[in-house]
Amino acid sequence: MRCFYCGESGKAGSNEHVPSQFLGSRLKTRRVCSPCGARIARELDDEVARYPMVLMPKALADVRSVKHQRKRPSFSVAGAVSATGQAVEVEFSPSGRVARDGRGAAVHDVVEVRYGLGDDLWPRLIAKVALGCASLLLPDDWLDGRLAQGLQSLLWHGPIDNVLWPGGVPAACGELEADDPARLALGRQRHMIGFVGDDGANHCAFAYLFGGQLACALPLPGLAIDGPSVWVLDSQLREPPAPEGYDSAIERMLGGQGWSPTYIEGLRSA
Ligand SMILES: [Zn+2]
Repeated sequence: MRCFYCGESGKAGSNEHVPSQFLGSRLKTRRVCSPCGARIARELDDEVARYPMVLMPKALADVRSVKHQRKRPSFSVAGAVSATGQAVEVEFSPSGRVARDGRGAAVHDVVEVRYGLGDDLWPRLIAKVALGCASLLLPDDWLDGRLAQGLQSLLWHGPIDNVLWPGGVPAACGELEADDPARLALGRQRHMIGFVGDDGANHCAFAYLFGGQLACALPLPGLAIDGPSVWVLDSQLREPPAPEGYDSAIERMLGGQGWSPTYIEGLRSA
């Protein structure tokens, strides 16, 4: 076994969650060594688990960690009333978002929340997702290539390979549009991760978390994948799912939600 996070062989494998059990994901890979699994849990997964841009949609969507299924997610952060600057505390939970003043009274004005951007977090998280997905699809010798090594460098805070990614830090993070078919198909609680591409070229790794309330993507020049390469991760699932094709996964989920075949056909031709 070669480890997809460090490229080395001969170490014991671990049960590494792709992307993270904190996000309610049961998808696992055995092709990550125990030291790397432990170090990433400490250095990256724990950082993700404290990050406001992850905690807010996680609480609103009621996505629970695989380890702590009983714990209802809730997250509080300091905020301010936009018009007056009055300090408030904003709580996010599955019941919604509530701002309270210093005496605990609900505030109904428009409130702003500030948080750090965590610029380094997204490249590392999406590199981890990409390597985890690659470990489920690709042979060991893929690890000798430039792309695998570029992803490992991103994962471990190393330099960015500016031949692969000439524009600098390549991971984009944001939110899917409300009418994006993937967001409609996923609902609020599910994630979808994997590789998408057209005709074997221009592949990217992506992670749509909490139904696309958080979405990040990273172009992967030179990746060639045939066949199904995305996973729909449902926090209610007992077992890791099988990979699917991107379009067929979206169509399956939209059909399951009662969208008409005509509507789905319209999306396909759009
Ligand atoms: Zn390793």
